[in-house]
Amino acid sequence: MLQVNRRRKGKTVLVAGGAGFVGSHLCDALLGRGDTVICVDSYITGSRDNVRPLMNHPGFRLIEQDVCDFLEIDEPLDQIYNLACAASPPQYQADPVHTMMTCVAGTGNLLALAERHGASFLQASTSEVYGDPAEHPQREDYRGNVSCTGPRACYDEGKRAAEALCFDMLRGGRVDARVARIFNTYGPRMQANDGRIVSNLVVQALSGKPLTIYGSGMQTRSFCYVSDLVGGLMALMNVQPNPGVPVNLGNPGEFTINELAQIIRSMVPARTALVYRPLPKDDPQRRRPDISRATELLDWQPTVPLAEGLAQTIGWFAANLTERPRKRTAASRRPRSAAAAQAVPAGS
Ligand code: NAD
Ligand code: UDP
Repeated sequence: MLQVNRRRKGKTVLVAGGAGFVGSHLCDALLGRGDTVICVDSYITGSRDNVRPLMNHPGFRLIEQDVCDFLEIDEPLDQIYNLACAASPPQYQADPVHTMMTCVAGTGNLLALAERHGASFLQASTSEVYGDPAEHPQREDYRGNVSCTGPRACYDEGKRAAEALCFDMLRGGRVDARVARIFNTYGPRMQANDGRIVSNLVVQALSGKPLTIYGSGMQTRSFCYVSDLVGGLMALMNVQPNPGVPVNLGNPGEFTINELAQIIRSMVPARTALVYRPLPKDDPQRRRPDISRATELLDWQPTVPLAEGLAQTIGWFAANLTERPRKRTAASRRPRSAAAAQAVPAGS
């Protein structure tokens, strides 16, 4: 394997969390560019299924490991992306201590690995560092409004601490660290049961079940399609010089949860009802990225409209729920829109 890798022309890139939703798409894109990819994942919220199509690729290697544990890689590394962390609120709250340790000890381990290898480092941070924001839209210089003792703190404060670690390593001249603040991202390979809004609503709609709306449904989010995000992550990793500041990556289109539910309902055959449930504690009321920094520094902006990205996502879930009997729900049906029906991306 190592001999094969050495013959490849691109960089050698480690993707921590590469068997997750975003990470697996990033692995695809890096391999497509000719890089050698080492994916490190504990599968706590990811799945081997996400990278199964890559297993026979000569440039791909998979290591099962928790990043909280010491990690060494024998071959030289050029770049490390740290995406290892549960991202869905129910999942990161299921073991909050482990989430915090993943953010702090895990990021610390990966930064130390980057330092030993002289590798560039990209941290997948989050819009959650802004908490329930008092400023709207959110610019990177806004310091946020995080509930530091609430149920989301393991993630929000963990990610804030991880950012601090990155910038300390950068200021100390020890690691070429970069920080992306990612806003809600969706697409194929989200877990059907991960509890996030897009996967929940799409799976419910395809299954003919009522769509669950937490609170009034008037809270807003901005939804970025996964291919747009991956393009932004790679642009930030490769831009020279290192911007030295965090960069928002997200789609500025802002929708209420009620609006999102209506759009998804209109795209699947079953006209399911909406059911309202209590709003989880500390759930942010508004969220929209100001992406002027990403546009200026990276010449990046998202290109996939919500309807198109949802069609891709619905098409993937429709095919996936049908093809995997273990995870099958009551009535997985083809989406209504022809675009959605044809929209399952190759290899996803
Ligand atoms: P995901 O849960 O699908 O992927 C995370 C991956 O990391 C999984 O494969 C999981 O098994 C792995 N992982 C978690 N803890 C680990 C540990 N301690 N050791 C090794 N592997 C571990 O989530 P995602 O949506 O793909 O998110 C990827 C990254 O992007 C996360 O760091 C998340 O915080 C960040 N992010 C995502 C979004 C989004 O909307 N998807 C928004 C903001 C930030
Ligand atoms: N939400 C909802 N119904 C669901 C799942 C989530 O109304 O079945 C709401 C949730 O309360 C939040 C928004 O949708 O206001 C986005 O939730 P998600 O968990 O996807 O991500 P968050 O941005 O909160 O981390």
